[in-house]
Parts: sequence; C-alpha cells; structure tokens
Amino acid sequence: MAQFDDIETQIYEFAKQNAEKTGCKLNPDYDIVAMAIKGIANNKKKYGEQYCSCREITRNKETDRKIICPCVYRSRELEQRGACKCALFVR
Ligand code: SF4
Repeated sequence: MAQFDDIETQIYEFAKQNAEKTGCKLNPDYDIVAMAIKGIANNKKKYGEQYCSCREITRNKETDRKIICPCVYRSRELEQRGACKCALFVR
C-alpha cells in the first residue's frame, strides 16, 4: 500500500466519496489509484488546484478549470471507454 501524506489522503477521500456520489468506482487496481492521487496531489501543492495528473496544464485558470478532478471529460470517457483518462475512475 502506498503511503499517503495529508493532501494525498484528502484527495483520496474526496475521490472515493465523489465516485460513490456519482455512481462510478475507483479503479480496483490500487497502484493506478495511488499514482493518479499522487499526481493530482502534486498539482494541488504546486498550483493550488487538484488538476488532473494526465492532462496538460496551460496555466490559464479559465481553461484549466476543465481539468480540475473530476474533469469535464470524465462522464464521456466513462461512457465510451469505461474509465477516465487517468483510469482513476471506472464505470
Ligand atoms: S481524467 Fe479526469 S476524472 Fe480522471 S483523474 Fe484525471 S481529472 Fe480526474
């Protein structure tokens, strides 16, 4: 099991609750979840927002709002390929 610091734990809890609330799941592969959570947490530490770890950050706040996890692309990706781009969330 990966060790999570405070921010990582916060984002992990958020992701778990958000998945429950929106009817999807966290990926059953814990390594993928840990990697995505750590990436999002790093962005949170660096940029102050939980930006996706597998999408490009433009540094334009307006544009980057779309990639705050859960990003605006998630529902379409879940529908089309059963997982979001980072595979943190699955159907
Ligand atoms: S692809 Fe979207 S939903 Fe998936 S981890 Fe990245 S921001 Fe979150």
